[in-house]
Amino acid sequence: MNLREHYRDGRFGLSFEIFPPKSAEGEQSLRSAIGELARWQPAFISCTYGAVGSTNQRTLDWCRVIQQEASLPAVAHLTCLESTTAGLCDWLHNSNQSGVVNFMALRGDRPKVRSARPGDFEFAYQLVELIRSKIPTAGIGVAGYPEKHPEAADEPTDLQHTARKVRAGADAIYTQLFFDNQRFLRYRDSLAVLGVEVPIVPGLMPITEYDRVAHIANLCGTFVPQELADSLERVKHDRSAQYAVGLEYSVRQTEELLREGVPGIHFYTLNKAGACLELLEQVRSLIPQRGDKP
Ligand SMILES: Cc1cc2nc3c(=O)[nH]c(=O)nc-3n(C[C@H](O)[C@H](O)[C@H](O)COP(=O)(O)OP(=O)(O)OC[C@H]3O[C@@H](n4cnc5c(N)ncnc54)[C@H](O)[C@@H]3O)c2cc1C
Repeated sequence: MNLREHYRDGRFGLSFEIFPPKSAEGEQSLRSAIGELARWQPAFISCTYGAVGSTNQRTLDWCRVIQQEASLPAVAHLTCLESTTAGLCDWLHNSNQSGVVNFMALRGDRPKVRSARPGDFEFAYQLVELIRSKIPTAGIGVAGYPEKHPEAADEPTDLQHTARKVRAGADAIYTQLFFDNQRFLRYRDSLAVLGVEVPIVPGLMPITEYDRVAHIANLCGTFVPQELADSLERVKHDRSAQYAVGLEYSVRQTEELLREGVPGIHFYTLNKAGACLELLEQVRSLIPQRGDKP
């Protein structure tokens, strides 16, 4: 099913993001995680694409697993930086042959050292245009940044760039993870002012570890509310308490977003089902049934 259909007429869609594992053990545990997550009948499971093509074949392999073994729609992530038009067209052709019709169109992070062959693409909107021209019926998601993309000069400019991806043909926006809902809600309102009407789906990662929150805050510049920082700091030497405190925060964050009528939630699973399943169980009563408006 095309990505666009999932949200049609205000329908709600859960989605989960995975990445291609590196070991046979990781593959086995991901297969079982996909099976468990599938019980929630998500709109789709998406699979990431390694920077500069490092796991690009495995992205399609996992999309096949999602579609054939779990009978769920798959969304293949695809990055364009340092890629050629011909290379991406080949990849799109292969994915179409495998029955993958939904894509997350991304630029990818800039490598520290620029390659001698810079490729044909500078920004994600160009990839959206390419996909739309080659597969007019494709479902296309793009990335959004409630706290601004780190390279962007300022928020208004970044918002304009996101709106451009939608004008180029994107069907939905999936956000970078965040811990402060107010930032997401402001972002949603700012895009609405720019005339963006496609679903804007918040990206969340269930919090389970103090170190991971600190790492994300460092890596992506994500704002960590004082309340969360303090409560995690208090239990930083106790793993099970970190899990309980983190999950409780994530449950509240999710509940608030569901009450705000978000069109879906995109979970960064890190290839593990446990915390997502626990969280979903706790917010079950607030999750709109498929077909219901939020
Ligand atoms: C949901 C989600 C999934 C992701 N999946 C992956 C993945 O699978 N693999 C991976 O490698 N990375 C992934 N990423 C990370 C992403 O590749 C990086 O954040 C990357 O740095 C930016 O990608 P983008 O698609 O947002 O780029 P763009 O939308 O092109 O934006 C990148 C920067 O360029 C600026 N910009 C855009 N257009 C213009 C323009 N016309 N002129 C000047 N400046 C412009 C933007 O403001 C921004 O600062 C994901 C991110 C998200 C949120």
